[in-house]
Amino acid sequence: MKRTGFGTIPDQPHYWLADARTPACLVDGERVGEPDFEGLVRLDIEIRDGRIAGLAPFGSAPVGSTDLRGGMAWPGLIDIHTHLDKGHIWPRSPNPEGNFLGAASSTAKDRAAHWTAADVAARIEFGLRCAWAQGTVAVRTHIDSPAPQAKISWPVFRAVRDAWAGRIDLQAVSIMPMDFFAQPQGEQLADIVAESGGILGCVTRVSTRGHDALPPEFGGLLERVFRLAMERGLDLDLHVDESGDGNARALIEIARMAVRLGFKSRLQCGHCCSLAVQPDEFVDETLGAAADAGIAVVSLPMCNMYLQGRDAGRTPRWRGVTLLHEMRGAGLAVSIASDNCRDPFHAYGDHDMLEVMTQATRIAHLDHPFGDWPTAVTAVPAEVMGLSNRGRLKVGDSADLVLLSARFMSEMLSRSQGDRIVLRSGRPIDTSLPDYRDLDPLLGLNA
Ligand SMILES: [Zn+2]
Repeated sequence: MKRTGFGTIPDQPHYWLADARTPACLVDGERVGEPDFEGLVRLDIEIRDGRIAGLAPFGSAPVGSTDLRGGMAWPGLIDIHTHLDKGHIWPRSPNPEGNFLGAASSTAKDRAAHWTAADVAARIEFGLRCAWAQGTVAVRTHIDSPAPQAKISWPVFRAVRDAWAGRIDLQAVSIMPMDFFAQPQGEQLADIVAESGGILGCVTRVSTRGHDALPPEFGGLLERVFRLAMERGLDLDLHVDESGDGNARALIEIARMAVRLGFKSRLQCGHCCSLAVQPDEFVDETLGAAADAGIAVVSLPMCNMYLQGRDAGRTPRWRGVTLLHEMRGAGLAVSIASDNCRDPFHAYGDHDMLEVMTQATRIAHLDHPFGDWPTAVTAVPAEVMGLSNRGRLKVGDSADLVLLSARFMSEMLSRSQGDRIVLRSGRPIDTSLPDYRDLDPLLGLNA
């Protein structure tokens, strides 16, 4: 029995959760009730042998069932853009200026000095333990892959993916500046990614510059990355236009190239911040091209708000995020994810997708109405990751749920949901978070 203030989960294979609330957009199948003023439906959930056996209108559950008293039930959460291999190095390699170039240089130094297989594995493991305890069921991570790091980190990723199989579905994407793909290491990396069942990715800038006006070699380098992916049948996931410089216009070039080359695999672009400072006409043109190319987008609002517009002693004047509403309006699949946690690109973060949803809602006005924005941390990234059994409450799927004391979005978005119950296969898991002290030996703390 797991007893809490908002329900007791019985220790038996068949039971009901009575009086739950779930965003209507996250309930698969026939409508079980009328959405309320926040788009939530009230329902009862039947669990049998670790699976969702029924989704029924409120009032269907037998008398004596576990009563959630209106608390929210979310499907397992999906974090589609993270950097687990960078995570938690902040105490060892902070970013004193807190800006993008400082982050890149601080991380590169830390990588060269410390990123052994054991170091990378321990920090990835720590991040996954945080994600697991908070109800995340699938994570896509980027893996810093400039030589010689790829040969260290990708075997670590493969081992961790195997070790976590059945708990968190893991996907990995390579990341390094695009000019490195012109070197022999580009092809070698594409082979490592293919052998690892990974996704090819790069940051769409050259190593000597930030995200600004595209250098003359941009088109050639981008085509090289596309062709390496196409030759191997790989999906692509790119870091794009992560700046407030209106001259950063990689997204439209990526879209046009995908169409020109007939790229058939899945293509996701992350960040796309500069779109928010570009003229409306160019925005329309870019979004049209991205829709034509079938590009999925992921926004990283917490990291963007941290890095963008930062200038010592000056108050930031913009929020750093891309045009989430306009992208949805143009028909793009839009996800939201956590990005970096406690590293030079973002000093904070805890791999908690409910925090990401909360912050994103506040930063990007994903409210009034909430509409189907809850799908941005669930159903949309599940689909982009090819996880057909994730992202919604669906009869027959594993009963992997996040149960909140909060009954409404206004309660969820106002208070930390540290008292959540996480069900995996219908059973509550230990939701205690790993202790930062576990990392002290790696970080040289308290030696
Ligand atoms: Zn990223």
